[in-house]
Amino acid sequence: MNPVSTFTTPPPDKINRRTTVKHGVFATAPHQTGHTPIQNIHRRINLKHLKQTTNNPIYTLNREEFVDKVVTVDYNARGVVRHLYAAARQHAQQPLCAKAAEFLRVPGCVAVATGFRITRYGGAVESDGLVSSVLLSLWLELRGGEAVIFVEKGFEEVVKAGLDAAGAGKTIVKGLPQAYGEAAQILFNVLDQKKPSLFVAVERPGANEYGRYHNSVGEDITSLTSPVDRLFERMSGWKRPFIAFGDGGNEAGMGLIKHAVEKHVPYGSTCRCGCGEGIAAETTADVLVTASISDLGLFGAMAIADPQTYRQTIDHLIPTTRALFEAGAVDAYRGPSKPGVDGVPIEAISAVAHLLQPI
Ligand SMILES: [Zn+2]
Repeated sequence: MNPVSTFTTPPPDKINRRTTVKHGVFATAPHQTGHTPIQNIHRRINLKHLKQTTNNPIYTLNREEFVDKVVTVDYNARGVVRHLYAAARQHAQQPLCAKAAEFLRVPGCVAVATGFRITRYGGAVESDGLVSSVLLSLWLELRGGEAVIFVEKGFEEVVKAGLDAAGAGKTIVKGLPQAYGEAAQILFNVLDQKKPSLFVAVERPGANEYGRYHNSVGEDITSLTSPVDRLFERMSGWKRPFIAFGDGGNEAGMGLIKHAVEKHVPYGSTCRCGCGEGIAAETTADVLVTASISDLGLFGAMAIADPQTYRQTIDHLIPTTRALFEAGAVDAYRGPSKPGVDGVPIEAISAVAHLLQPI
């Protein structure tokens, strides 16, 4: 139905000040405004709409809840985020991005682990995790800090291309090998030098109970994966908080809600490699943020921790992602030629990231 037809407007000669007061819409009587009756109808519709907008609950809702809601919309219809979020939320007893944001506000250096290998695209590194790690680095640098990003050996140049595109010049990238002792040595050398006060894992493989790493389709990727999740987990025992962002249940931090992963995620309790366990990660963290796409969880935490810097940061999202793809990153669902994250085109990721800004 045309909404215009629902209005009954008196003929012009019947419109007077009393009508104006009764409807509470016109600032002055219509005959004094110089508008035609049809223009007045349009003004009434627009003003009525504005009045409704002002009463829209979006202006009054809790911002921390709003951010969690935006990052847990199931954009790629994977079907697990509502279960993983419910479990993580119950564990945290507060909105998740806001809890992570409390830790992110630390000054100085932050150590970041990211990079999930996608076997069906030749073992290339996926974009989820990399995009937000690079933008976190920029966000930290704009606030006077910096990051050290740890990835598998061989993926350093991909991350550096993203950092260059974003303009995050202070952040360094370190490649880690698969051997635990060797990885630990490299990590500790960097930690001695940079002295990070916070550890962050985003879309980083998490070992299961038997120390095996799996991808989301239940395949064993242990021989291709550095155990940086377990090294980061040890840091929280040394009074260095460790916050983790994941979306599938097989990432660092998911040990906090392992029961939910085993129950609701395909291969969660039984993998395909025959190790006797599932893909559910055993690695815990001090804070776990579960989102529909891991990058979105970290965006949400940054948006709450420092909205103004976040606003500056996300304008770099699209060029940063394009640079990561040109250097070899892939979309885990759509491959190397369509810049995006977990099957969602980068323009849509950028739109969601912009939704997280305060209104
Ligand atoms: Zn297995």
